[in-house]
Amino acid sequence: MKENNFNPESLMMTYGYKPELSEGAIKCPIFQTSTFVFKTAEEGKAFFELAYGLREKSPKEELGLIYSRINNPNLEILENRLSLWDKSDDCAVFESGMSAISTVLLEFLKPGDLLVYSNPVYGGTDHFIHHFLDKIGVHTIGVMPNQGIDDVVQMIQDSGKADKLAMIYLETPANPTNNIVDIEKFSQIAKQFSTEDRKTLVAVDNTYMGPLWQHPLQCGADLVLYSATKYIGGHSDLIAGAVLGNTELMIRVKTLRTFLGNMVSPHTAWLLLRSLETLKVRMDQQTKNAQVIADYLEGHAKVKKVYYLGLLKEGTADFATYKKQCSAPGAMVSFDIEGGEKEAFTFLNNLKLMKLAVSLGGTESLAEHPKTMTHAGVDEGQRQQMNITDQLLRLSIGVESVDDLIWDLDQALHKVHINTPLKVDQV
Ligand SMILES: *Cc1c(COP(=O)(O)O)cnc(C)c1O
Repeated sequence: MKENNFNPESLMMTYGYKPELSEGAIKCPIFQTSTFVFKTAEEGKAFFELAYGLREKSPKEELGLIYSRINNPNLEILENRLSLWDKSDDCAVFESGMSAISTVLLEFLKPGDLLVYSNPVYGGTDHFIHHFLDKIGVHTIGVMPNQGIDDVVQMIQDSGKADKLAMIYLETPANPTNNIVDIEKFSQIAKQFSTEDRKTLVAVDNTYMGPLWQHPLQCGADLVLYSATKYIGGHSDLIAGAVLGNTELMIRVKTLRTFLGNMVSPHTAWLLLRSLETLKVRMDQQTKNAQVIADYLEGHAKVKKVYYLGLLKEGTADFATYKKQCSAPGAMVSFDIEGGEKEAFTFLNNLKLMKLAVSLGGTESLAEHPKTMTHAGVDEGQRQQMNITDQLLRLSIGVESVDDLIWDLDQALHKVHINTPLKVDQV
């Protein structure tokens, strides 16, 4: 095996860091500094020329360190390491997943443009689309789960704005129902509506699967977005985001980041570097646990339906899409409990090991009720269409002993009594 063929997990401890520049320290220190000293005025001038795009980079020249809003060693090393998983040219890290998402939408959409997006999307993304993009005159079309590709093309044509289709934004598998869409097919739609002077971009929120189990750039997407708060951070102790793509697009993303000033801090970047070292072992364990839990729930009398990629039936269209674009079923398991909100809440209130909290992807398992929590702000009519009902519960599976998790689920489900009227003192 050649050195440049190492798997990403082998490079997460060392890639992009030169110990000789940091007193030989095995670990990259935190570069907690706002600004960097230039050796000479000429060097400062040369760095700024590159940073502001005033001239082309000469071969082998790297952007020098100027100011931590523009670049910083912790951010650069993190960006280089994250790029390995998705095999992207470049990466930009942000102070939150939402800042990564909103920066991409702001950079590539302008008033009059059309955005097509898949439903459901993360609650914050949904809010940004409906309450901000609408306000600045971006037209939006939401695609519902199970709408066929021909339907989508028809909707775009019927909108009268087909010539303005600037972006297709996908979230797959979608939060909280694990609904999946075919990235390759949507990339073909983007090609179909691209013109010579305007390429329709495909952006994919890969938070649920990435960066391990799904690589949207390889399926034809142009940009990959992450809430790095979730699996990448993995310990529920930070908020961060990331965008990946080719050099040309990433220059635009990084330029807007410089002027919005929403880059991640050196300390958070350092925490993420630590997280990346165990990313693969964590995620492998999480998906292994999740499959066992999904199988258990599927056989439980008080569980009506389980939404998990590892339970998709062979022969279905979703199974084909899943096999084509994912290498594992992930570690997010949602299910409908028999009953309604009361039964769902009884289950949540009785968990002992799993914590009742939103967010996902951390080492500890979490449970929540999407309808009244993460997706409380989504339009009720739309929620019904997307199966976000009183019965739906969402689990993020961690790295605990799977036997202990099953014990916990079992005892909490045992406390749920179906069809018993609520006593006054329980209200
Ligand atoms: C959490 C999440 C986001 C938002 O990320 P933040 O880091 O909380 O800003 C976006 N998309 C998905 C799928 C998420 O789960």
